[in-house]
Amino acid sequence: MSDFNWCHGPECHTKHTLDRVRGNKGSKVLRTRKIRINDWNSNTQWGFFCSNHCQNDFWNKYARDIVAIAPRTECLETPIENPERTKHTTSYGYTYYDTKITEVRQD
Ligand SMILES: [Zn+2]
Repeated sequence: MSDFNWCHGPECHTKHTLDRVRGNKGSKVLRTRKIRINDWNSNTQWGFFCSNHCQNDFWNKYARDIVAIAPRTECLETPIENPERTKHTTSYGYTYYDTKITEVRQD
């Protein structure tokens, strides 16, 4: 297995940044960024994309194809207890509420 991936952003090679410039004088190109695989990015999307921008470009171009891999044809549900709303009053007299959501244990 190789220790790098080329960025999968379909427009990566068109972005105007100096780190993408490659080639000899007179025949310069903008090249897709190379991503070194390391402990931080292996097993995450950052092993495939050099930036959020490139990841967004990929999604915008291929979202329908990606979703077809694991289509969601109906909603999913997580059983919960009745939400508990609690009133709090601070020492300054400010009142706020929070609502606790607890999943139903399924043993
Ligand atoms: Zn990129």
